[in-house]
Amino acid sequence: MIFEASLEYARSTDKTDPLHQYRSQFYFPSYKDGEAIYFCGNSLGLQPKNVRNAIDQELNDWKNLAVGGYFKAKTPWLFYQQYFRSSLSAIMGCREDEVTVMNALTVNLHFLMLSFYKPANGRYKIMMEAGAFPSDQYAVETQVKFYGYQPEDAIIEIAPREGEHTLRTEDILKAIDENRDSLALVLFGGINYYTGQLYDIAAITKAAHTAGAIAGFDLAHVAGNVPMHLHDWDVDFAAWCSYKYLNGGPGAAGGVYIHERYGNNPQQQRLAGWWGNDERVRFKMEKGFIPQQGAGGWQLSTAQVFNMVSLKASLKWFDAAGIHNLRAKSLDLTAYLEFLLKQLKHFDFEIITPSDPQQRGAQLSLYFKEFGKEIHQKMADNGIIVDYREPGVIRVAPAPLYNSYEDVYQFYKILRELE
Ligand SMILES: *Cc1c(COP(=O)(O)O)cnc(C)c1O
Repeated sequence: MIFEASLEYARSTDKTDPLHQYRSQFYFPSYKDGEAIYFCGNSLGLQPKNVRNAIDQELNDWKNLAVGGYFKAKTPWLFYQQYFRSSLSAIMGCREDEVTVMNALTVNLHFLMLSFYKPANGRYKIMMEAGAFPSDQYAVETQVKFYGYQPEDAIIEIAPREGEHTLRTEDILKAIDENRDSLALVLFGGINYYTGQLYDIAAITKAAHTAGAIAGFDLAHVAGNVPMHLHDWDVDFAAWCSYKYLNGGPGAAGGVYIHERYGNNPQQQRLAGWWGNDERVRFKMEKGFIPQQGAGGWQLSTAQVFNMVSLKASLKWFDAAGIHNLRAKSLDLTAYLEFLLKQLKHFDFEIITPSDPQQRGAQLSLYFKEFGKEIHQKMADNGIIVDYREPGVIRVAPAPLYNSYEDVYQFYKILRELE
């Protein structure tokens, strides 16, 4: 692929991009008389235009049917989680009954650890990447304390080598092997929120299993960004939020994947609620929890319809576009962004995200040794929405579902003028 740093090139590429049509299905924040350049879909995805109708539908069903909506709404609330399984199984690469939507990400991490982190007989350690998202760090820290361990002892963090920003797969695999006698759980991110590095989930899972440990992943920055093959990779469990690349709106219900070997096992330990009970007998209100088969057996509470409806609307566009087509575009779009960033002469920054496209998703992280915050402010003043994370990183994430080549070009053009 030969890129060109020109508006003509960007526009003609948009013209031939079969996914470009989906851009018009989203609202962009405004800037002056037009639209902002939005590269923050890794933090909060844009609102799909079909969301309002979908919410209205539920409001009307609530208004007109009240409790009858559980069975008689256009999308009966009783079965709400089922409406996500086909779309999410395609995005995550798993069976439909291995995935469900419930609660929120950190909540789900805790519940999944209660099922799958079973410290016993000297096997009690949890391995994660150093610099994981704070909520994941807090979750793991408090889990090990919950069982009476010291975080300094029970949590193994894998850090980049001296002078490097990202992890080497060989170092992760080696650390797993070295801790094979004490490791209970490997709980890694899929993509690190700060560096944008995509980890080798298949290799990490295999190494964890060889070491006798469970392999779980936080896929917050992966979901809707990079297609997964969770079932074939034999991943034990995963969780993600729905408001980043999946555009489910602020606080949308999170997603969960649980491998069928657990989902098919009613004896698998879990903390249960009635929404995870076998649906055929849910309303018999009887004693004795009988889990639904699959990930649904981990559901606890009544489906949070208004925290799920926007996600349902958004998934329509993922179904239409196809996650593999989105990834193909994303690889090219992010490569174009990288190409243009390298044309800048004066800004002093380093792209700390791996240059290998197989080790990253949509996001590039620009590390400014100095003035990162000031430069971020200048970008904001000029209609660019990206985010800044201490120390010194501006994260730029063009989302293939609604960002265009022209967006990437305009971003570059503004930076060139700011330099
Ligand atoms: C966004 C994100 C979260 C946020 O968790 P919530 O419970 O949804 O607030 C947690 N972990 C990671 C890795 C994230 O990227």
